[in-house]
Amino acid sequence: MEQVSDRALCRLCQINQPNIKAHIMAEGLMKLIHGQPKYDGRFIMVGKELKKPVRRPTGSYDRTILCSTCDNKLGEYDLAAIEFCQRADFKPHPSGVASTLSDVDHTKLKLFAMSYIWRASITSLSEYDGVSLGERHESKIADMLRNSDAGNVDDYSVVISRFTLPEERTTWGMHVLNPVTNRLDGINLVDVYLPNLYKWKVKVDSRPFKKELRKISLGALNEVLVLNMGDYTESKEFTIMHAAIMGDKKRVKQKVNDKSLLTSR
Ligand SMILES: [Zn+2]
Repeated sequence: MEQVSDRALCRLCQINQPNIKAHIMAEGLMKLIHGQPKYDGRFIMVGKELKKPVRRPTGSYDRTILCSTCDNKLGEYDLAAIEFCQRADFKPHPSGVASTLSDVDHTKLKLFAMSYIWRASITSLSEYDGVSLGERHESKIADMLRNSDAGNVDDYSVVISRFTLPEERTTWGMHVLNPVTNRLDGINLVDVYLPNLYKWKVKVDSRPFKKELRKISLGALNEVLVLNMGDYTESKEFTIMHAAIMGDKKRVKQKVNDKSLLTSR
């Protein structure tokens, strides 16, 4: 288990001591991928940065980062994401390559995206090693979260996209990859994966996105534009996930009760 230092303060308010199990990805979001018979009650964390999948039966949490007041504050933004990921009332966009969703609280959804990558960055849990925002961005995002300030369209811009699966294969998409740092046209960003095949690009760079992405970023339009990423089974994400799960199944067969799979630091 993690050691809580007496002097460590909540990373958000910097007043209270961390006193709760702060989930990096909200339990409510994890529940959306929960319940398929194959992995009932268990979660397997996989990511490019992990040498092997990590078991986290109740999700990844960190006792050393947040106080309950601040965790509850971020919980409001989590709720916006939980509601968003369950929406199915997509309208086709005239471009043919995207759908739209109306009546979305852009501010809360963007604060969720910022808070998720921030939590992934400040935790020392190994499955989130793929995200390290650096001190400047960690501190800037913490300020914005404290003030419930989602910034303008160029601050931590969010572009939302989603894979698809044929109806008979929807269970194939009941996984979530951990966030990972990436680059697009030289701009630094974090790829964020959410239940129901969402992939969000969250810009962590003072330079703006190119015009085409800028105008579809969260908050640029009244509606939320969801880019269609095509069939999930043809994506590199599916390949990573598939390989990890197949590898893990073998190991589970060998050592079904091996507690060492419940890694902690
Ligand atoms: Zn706090």
